[in-house]
Amino acid sequence: MEASFQSLLNEAVKFHGHLCGGQIIGVRMAMAGLRELGISEPKSEQGRDLVIFMEIDRCAADAIISVTGRTPGKRSIKMMDYGKMAATFVDTSSGRSVRVSVRADSEERVKRMAQHLFPQDDEAKAQLDAMACIAEEDLFRIRRVHVAMRPEDLPGVPLDTAVCERCGEMVRDRRQVCLNGSVLCKPCAQGRDYYTLV
Ligand SMILES: [Zn+2]
Ligand SMILES: [Zn+2]
Repeated sequence: MEASFQSLLNEAVKFHGHLCGGQIIGVRMAMAGLRELGISEPKSEQGRDLVIFMEIDRCAADAIISVTGRTPGKRSIKMMDYGKMAATFVDTSSGRSVRVSVRADSEERVKRMAQHLFPQDDEAKAQLDAMACIAEEDLFRIRRVHVAMRPEDLPGVPLDTAVCERCGEMVRDRRQVCLNGSVLCKPCAQGRDYYTLV
């Protein structure tokens, strides 16, 4: 049976740790993406081939993980680091994909709705309630897209393992770089990393 918005939200809040706008937006975003792909039970066999490109690294990302059961460890969540409120849901078995993004003008609409519908309520609570009931077309832009999935990005056993000739560490799934005849990991090839040794 298809789960209701409220039960999915309760589950997301438990997973994330608090109720926030991100949980409401994320649950609604996941529900929209799943509906467009015809997936009613993502955690069953039906959702096995679902991969999500996550452009969000804030609260809403947790809600999408909670609703769909997809995780980075299963290679079914791809973190895109775009700082955008959007996610693309890809059914890798059929190739059908849909991208759901939050409309830039939705914040203003939510604020106005909150004031109009729940004038007696605390401002923060009124905004959460408005986010839950604002029409989907006022909240999201939903578009069919095509995603070219590379074999090395799919779930399953690693395609190959290389060893970086500079740092000696393993590199999986064809992420190695060939530079002047040497096989290197990406940071060694770029000559920089996000950390420095101390
Ligand atoms: Zn949050
Ligand atoms: Zn290296």
